[in-house]
Amino acid sequence: MKIKTDEITSIIKQEIEQFSTELEISEVGRVVEVGDGIARIYGLSRAMAGELLEFDTAEGAVMGQVMNLELDTVGAVIYGNFLAVREGDTVKSTNRLLEVPVGEGMLGRVVDPLGRAMDGGPPIDTGGVTRKLDIVAPGIAYRQPVKEPLQTGIKAIDSMIPIGRGQRELIIGDRKTGKTAVAVDAIINQRGWWGTPDAVVCIYVAIGQKASTVAGVVETLKAHGAMDYTIVVIAGAADPAPMQYIAPYAGCAMGEHFMWQGKEGKTPKHVLCVYDDLTKQAHSYRQLSLLLRRPPGREAYPGDVFYLHSRLLERATKLADQHGGGSLTALPIIETQEGDVSAYIPTNVISITDGQIYLQPELFAAGTRPAINVGISVSRVGGNAQIKAMKEVAGSLRLDLAAYRELEAFAQLGTDLDATSQRQLDRGGRMVQLLKQDQYIPFDAIDQCISIFAAANGFLDDLDLTAVHPFERDLLEFFAGPRKDLRDKLADTKSFKGLEEDFTAAVRDFKANWNPPSGSA
Ligand code: ATP
Ligand code: MG
Repeated sequence: MKIKTDEITSIIKQEIEQFSTELEISEVGRVVEVGDGIARIYGLSRAMAGELLEFDTAEGAVMGQVMNLELDTVGAVIYGNFLAVREGDTVKSTNRLLEVPVGEGMLGRVVDPLGRAMDGGPPIDTGGVTRKLDIVAPGIAYRQPVKEPLQTGIKAIDSMIPIGRGQRELIIGDRKTGKTAVAVDAIINQRGWWGTPDAVVCIYVAIGQKASTVAGVVETLKAHGAMDYTIVVIAGAADPAPMQYIAPYAGCAMGEHFMWQGKEGKTPKHVLCVYDDLTKQAHSYRQLSLLLRRPPGREAYPGDVFYLHSRLLERATKLADQHGGGSLTALPIIETQEGDVSAYIPTNVISITDGQIYLQPELFAAGTRPAINVGISVSRVGGNAQIKAMKEVAGSLRLDLAAYRELEAFAQLGTDLDATSQRQLDRGGRMVQLLKQDQYIPFDAIDQCISIFAAANGFLDDLDLTAVHPFERDLLEFFAGPRKDLRDKLADTKSFKGLEEDFTAAVRDFKANWNPPSGSA
């Protein structure tokens, strides 16, 4: 009897040991708690941070991702239909990280952050090619300094706040100050390069916006032929927070595909990513962090909210030539409240980017559109990426505008000004007028140079403010027609060196025969 009991005990012990080993290697867990797009799962003891999960629900498989590794459960976010996930559902870990499909097949499409078509078109075929959503940004050895311009076609930006390919330039401003407009114009302007070796693929990531607003942007892009080279990634205001949180990483991964293909000698290898906007992404991240019970910090954001944006924006880069020389330019957008740039998220993103374009509501209301405050907008690296001709004329533009801003206050008081000041005031006023630009009509870089050349050399000083734009339009027509030879020379050398006198004479000739305001030169 005694011997038997011992045997039984040992068998049971053995069984228990084996049983527990089996449990250890199993990769299936169960949902113990679910709500608001967040699930707590028991039994995934080997789950990795960021690992992709598959929820086996009554309505089919739903994807999720591990966010929190806790003592005996994991906290996960659910992508897609989180209402289908119920307590007790089984969850498989996949041993994979989150990936999105990438490739040429995505161009012209509107997709969600998981790369699924949202435009009612056919399913997207990228031949199974995917990229990891969240990667470590390329290190310094993979990079080289930013050196080529990314032309936005917006005079005020290309002349004074130039953006280079591979740069990160923040667009910041209150609501309804034309932030999206700047980014959309920059995308439309890339049309000129499409089909050339310098082509730029554009990715517009809409985060937390109304579906109708995004539909408007897509329509605009289509109408201007910009969808040929653009991918729109949508995580709308109605989408769950996790989708809004991953949307910019998804867009970035789609861009990286093109950036890296330069290494195989393929084009396009230049990418422009617009993240519209990261404020809403931060909101969604705050929401899911609170739901995951991560400790809240300043403004209730979790402690790693800086990392949220830094790891995204670090992925913008100009690759070294041995890596193909591709680039990924980032234009993140941040919305401020009452112009408060010292709030938590704005200061974070300002410190991560290489400069900012500051849009001011007062300017916008006064009709200066784009409402760029050139006094406090900067681009820390773009100067290297400007064509020479632009550098030559833009220097005086900045000075003239600075002088104008100083005098403007006096002028408003009706103070009598001396002749020099009056001249500066006239000059500045014409410059400000010249830099106003309607939406969707990007300017060619050479045209911009000619316009600013004329203004900087005083040819606009005696014009009526209302005559500035007609004058500019006719002047550019003049250089596209009768004096195309001169324009071609400039386009060729990309510098006014040796051409200044010819240009001055030509503009003077033109002006002598020009009649405002109907303008029939
Ligand atoms: P939101 O805070 O809603 O995202 P936003 O800052 O992105 O707004 P936009 O939607 O780009 O602003 O622009 C607001 C309005 O101003 C739009 O109706 C747009 O057409 C107009 N607008 C923007 N830029 C210009 C411009 N350069 N010329 C004329 N109108 C403009
Ligand atoms: Mg907007």
